[in-house]
Amino acid sequence: MKILLASEIGFCFGVKRAVNMVERLLNEVGKVYVVGSLIHNSLEMRRLERKGLKAVSDPEEVPQGAFAVVRSHGLKREEIELLVRRKVKLVDTTCPFVKRVRDVAQNLIREGYEVLLYGDPDHPEVQGLMSYLEGNVFVLRDERDLDFISISDKIGLVSQTTQELDAFLKIAVDLSGRAKEVRMVNTICNATIKRRRAVKDILSLSDALLVIGGKNSANTKKLVDLSKRYFKDRTYHIEFPKELSGRWFEGVGVLGVVSGASTPDWQVKVVLAILKKYGGEVCNGDGSGERKRILSH
Ligand code: SF4
Repeated sequence: MKILLASEIGFCFGVKRAVNMVERLLNEVGKVYVVGSLIHNSLEMRRLERKGLKAVSDPEEVPQGAFAVVRSHGLKREEIELLVRRKVKLVDTTCPFVKRVRDVAQNLIREGYEVLLYGDPDHPEVQGLMSYLEGNVFVLRDERDLDFISISDKIGLVSQTTQELDAFLKIAVDLSGRAKEVRMVNTICNATIKRRRAVKDILSLSDALLVIGGKNSANTKKLVDLSKRYFKDRTYHIEFPKELSGRWFEGVGVLGVVSGASTPDWQVKVVLAILKKYGGEVCNGDGSGERKRILSH
């Protein structure tokens, strides 16, 4: 079985940055708190917890004066204010792409636009963003939600960083027929766009796809959904290497392997080592499906 690795694999820029910042802080101070999960990957969280990271669900659980980090997808404004009041020493690892959505939306509001944010209202990033936006702001799960809100003349449209570009464009097109003015700013992060493109690139060359990433990771779930459009029964999503089953790969000539943005390289390497035991050989696709170069994993 040949194994095709997606060209974008392992941590994205923002997650890598957050994890590096936390590790540096842990080396300096030994114990660091985070409200919520720093990243949506249980194995990486466990590794960091062994080094002294403590995840709590409520800012009140962070002791006064302790060190804490703001996770890569941000916190609500009131949570940060509470931590500041408790004199917690805060290090902000919020991804710059997430901050950009906030800045863009705030500018649009200042310029008199009613802002629509395309995203998942239950996702921490969206909840964090909404806490900073004052004025008329609505969250859209998808274009069907447009039927349930009254659209003003002047609409500003932004997106959660990890949404799908095609769906975002569809909403923009739909809105153009409903409002006099639509100002759309693409705030989907480049890492998300490149990763989806990398998955599409190997889908056509593979017989099955293995997605490695947290079961509660939004971007991983979207990669699984994308793959299922091509391989309804041959898309496998694992969070832990032990979930792999040799039976999945019977009759598979080429297996595509991708990961979510919060899956560390070391986890991908562990999975590859197991796949090699099942007879897998890592190679890169060159568009013709031929073996091009063995990677050093
Ligand atoms: S997925 Fe994008 S926005 Fe989220 S942490 Fe990674 S680079 Fe930043």
